[in-house]
Amino acid sequence: MEEKKQTHQFKTEVRQILNLIVNSLYSNQEIFLRELISNASDAIDKLRFKSQTEPSILGDDGEFKIKLRPDGIAQILEVSDNGIGMTHDEVMENIGTIAKSGTAQFLEMLKQAQSSETLTPELIGQFGVGFYSAFMVADKITMVTRAVGAAPDQAVRWESTGDGSFTIEPATRDRRGTTITLHLKKRGKEDPDYTDQWQIRRIVKQHSDYVAYPIVMDVEKEIPIPDKEQIKDKDGKPIGETKRRVIEEETLNSREAIWAKPKDEVTDQAHDEFYKHLAHDWNPPLARLHFKMEGTTEYHALIYIPAKAPFDLFHAERKHGIQLYCKRVFIMDDCKELIPEYLRFVKGVVDAPDLNLNVSREILQQDRLVMNIRNNLVKKVLDLLSEMPAEQYEKFYEPFGPVVKEGIYTDSNKRDKIAALARYKTTKSDGKWVSLDEYVKRMQPDQKEIYYITGDDLNALIHNPHLEKLKEKSYEVLLMADPVDEWVVQSLTEYDGKPLKSAEKGDLALDKVDEKHKEAFNALFGFIKGQLEAKVKEVKPSVRLTESVACLAGEDYDMSAYMEKLLKASGQKPPEVKRVLELNMDHPVMGRIKTLYENDRDNASLKDYCQVLYDLAVVAEGGKLENPARFSRLVGEMMTRAIA
Ligand code: ADP
Repeated sequence: MEEKKQTHQFKTEVRQILNLIVNSLYSNQEIFLRELISNASDAIDKLRFKSQTEPSILGDDGEFKIKLRPDGIAQILEVSDNGIGMTHDEVMENIGTIAKSGTAQFLEMLKQAQSSETLTPELIGQFGVGFYSAFMVADKITMVTRAVGAAPDQAVRWESTGDGSFTIEPATRDRRGTTITLHLKKRGKEDPDYTDQWQIRRIVKQHSDYVAYPIVMDVEKEIPIPDKEQIKDKDGKPIGETKRRVIEEETLNSREAIWAKPKDEVTDQAHDEFYKHLAHDWNPPLARLHFKMEGTTEYHALIYIPAKAPFDLFHAERKHGIQLYCKRVFIMDDCKELIPEYLRFVKGVVDAPDLNLNVSREILQQDRLVMNIRNNLVKKVLDLLSEMPAEQYEKFYEPFGPVVKEGIYTDSNKRDKIAALARYKTTKSDGKWVSLDEYVKRMQPDQKEIYYITGDDLNALIHNPHLEKLKEKSYEVLLMADPVDEWVVQSLTEYDGKPLKSAEKGDLALDKVDEKHKEAFNALFGFIKGQLEAKVKEVKPSVRLTESVACLAGEDYDMSAYMEKLLKASGQKPPEVKRVLELNMDHPVMGRIKTLYENDRDNASLKDYCQVLYDLAVVAEGGKLENPARFSRLVGEMMTRAIA
């Protein structure tokens, strides 16, 4: 334990966040209280979870609550809890730094949003600003905290005026838990007074009504003086006071477990508020599922689909969204066992009365009941998504589609069901999303396969020369522009009985090559192959091209160009796979090269043409040229000759 008062600087990202909060959430100030109450409630949850295996740690302080103490004269508001508290090291770790992964990217995004003036509270809300939001209303914050198990004189006092530094020193606290004291900023005439009891009641009711622990405040009340204690005249009429003023602790929140209430008794507004509390998200949810399972597996579930993606959706260590309860008693947060990775964005509560209360995380995974609930939840959520009206589903799909698609290759039992949820833009959809069912319905009468192409840029994909022949035949092609699609197509080999086929690999069962025509080019192709030996495994007449002169194709089981790019971007070194150079025999330039080759085999330009043909194929698919300077020089020379 540190002995003296120390001063530390906030980490840069905290300073940035503080700045943002203070400057951009002004109209949402009052949510600071919700954030502090949420932290207090989380701290009690943590303690409670710990006490399940070590009941003695609660001592004689087992009545959990969150206490608010306003002082109007001093303009101070205190929020205390008897939760888990923090040690010196924990304070250093949690307050003053932001440990969340992805903070840097998030801040970068905010900065960009800010410059385009679209910085909204919702955007910041996705991040969950928590504790720091109190600096919107306070110019000094003091926190005294004592961790469970620590002695009274092992408490820690933290203080900051939010201007870049904080102090930390040893302190005493007679009970376990945390007290946050806000020294409120001087108010303008219009500003609300956060020490006003009426205000506090309203804010708690509005934003924190569902917090599971009592949120209490001392209030002065008038109560009638019992009859026999009253002073009365001879006619029995009271001559003194009939009422007395007392201080009473009032509970401000209803603590209703809304998941346990009948579905039709919970209003949309109540759901929205509960969701915000649960998800630390400021946007109302997009959709919800509220149901009670009966029968062998009994449980209540209340599940929300967020409207916006959290900033850390793709960070491995992000929390999952399901809280587990047993008969309304909180068991654990972040219950990964109840929902698969590919549905990690859902938020909600599962309350299972038959759960073994002493479950540990390890046991949970094998618990039959938990497995049943998980299967059930997955089915219900997938049904909900399948049945969503198109417009709502699109809102869902933009942020969460890539996550759900992970299920196609991670949950083989549900593959087809999840594949039906996938949407793609196509060569014919005019920028709109198309489902595989729609695609199949629109297939040409003679079309046997579902064509797709993968890559990272929709615009490059749609103009990819590989698709020329398919377009001519009016075959639609799925444009897969999302990294997960590379994995999707590896496990989704067919849909609705129709094989999925890459437009850039293998033979497309399209028109056959005219054998005679092909023979005429044999010698030239042999020559080109000789020139490009190091780069291509074969030179072939193309069935794919109608307008372009060259493209590179893979064989059926080769890695796609995009997959290769993805692997390289992630630092891996995929084995070099040579591809096939396909040339369009009907292209006028091929005829000219052929004539030149036949008349003058030793013409020095022939070698250059081979290089350029190869480079053209690379450029057309958005690839990277090995030697861009050479390409540019050769094309320049050729243009000069052509124009002269
Ligand atoms: P968040 O709550 O989103 O994690 P905060 O900045 O609000 O972010 O809080 C940072 C961390 O500080 C919390 O995750 C928690 O570990 C700790 N903390 C905050 N308030 C309390 C409290 N009242 N009791 C115990 N720990 C707390």
